[in-house]
Amino acid sequence: MEIIKTILDYNNFQKSLNKKTIGFVPTMGYIHDGHLKLVKESLSNNDVTIVSIFVNPTQFGKNEDYHNYPRNIDKDIALLKEVGSTALFIPTVSEMYPNNQTTLLNINVETSFTNKLCGKYRPGHFEGVATIIMKLFSIIKADNAYFGLKDYQQFILIKNLAQSFFTTTKIIGIPTMRGENGLALSSRNSYLTEKEQLLASEIYKNLLIISEFIKINKQINSMSLKKKYNSLLKIASKALQLQYLEIYDAELNSINEYQINKTFIGTAVYLNNVRLIDNLLF
Ligand code: AMP
Repeated sequence: MEIIKTILDYNNFQKSLNKKTIGFVPTMGYIHDGHLKLVKESLSNNDVTIVSIFVNPTQFGKNEDYHNYPRNIDKDIALLKEVGSTALFIPTVSEMYPNNQTTLLNINVETSFTNKLCGKYRPGHFEGVATIIMKLFSIIKADNAYFGLKDYQQFILIKNLAQSFFTTTKIIGIPTMRGENGLALSSRNSYLTEKEQLLASEIYKNLLIISEFIKINKQINSMSLKKKYNSLLKIASKALQLQYLEIYDAELNSINEYQINKTFIGTAVYLNNVRLIDNLLF
């Protein structure tokens, strides 16, 4: 596996590929089986697979975990090598934002998108995501890029981003990989003890209960569903603090009625200061 640290080196690497198809998996590292699922999908559908690891400072809020975000580059390299990735792109912050230009030029995301789900609670987050993904797309020039549906709002954002900027990279969504107890795999799970991870699996279990309830009742009353979900979490543990539970269609537009396979529930829950997100499309 090639390890590439600069844009110049990537450009030279890409020239040597001689027009092979490129699959791209952008990550923030601390690689787990969820990331590897994306990498495997890319490997089986492209000649070469480029993974990037970049903890992007502009998508973290002031009081968020940018500095503490879990990092273990040696382990990441070993895992990505083992699965057969062709190259790993690990740029520095100054490579991606030359001359400290983290704020000079950013992509703006309209408020109708950022006033819901994570956007509402993480001001500036999706602008940071859109900006870094556009920069990475410009560098990597991939045929296909793979994103997890675990970050569903991010996935929709990137699909729109690619369309808005006439990107030729095709955006592919991959279903969420879960642990045995249903907890969505996430680098942030490393902040939790084993016991807490078991507790965190209630987030998914109770999303399933709410989805069954919606399927039966058909009508969607967001306020009462949020209350119901909150009380289910509270029965499991007082430590599970609901931030939001919101319901939309698959494109994240408002809905009042259940639509088969096009109904989306997204949630964010704090467990002892660790913020966890999950969702269902059903
Ligand atoms: P991150 O490193 O958390 O930014 O994630 C990098 C990519 O992996 C994103 O497209 C995520 O949506 C995706 N991803 C993270 N966790 C999972 C998971 N449990 N299952 C599938 N994809 C995931």
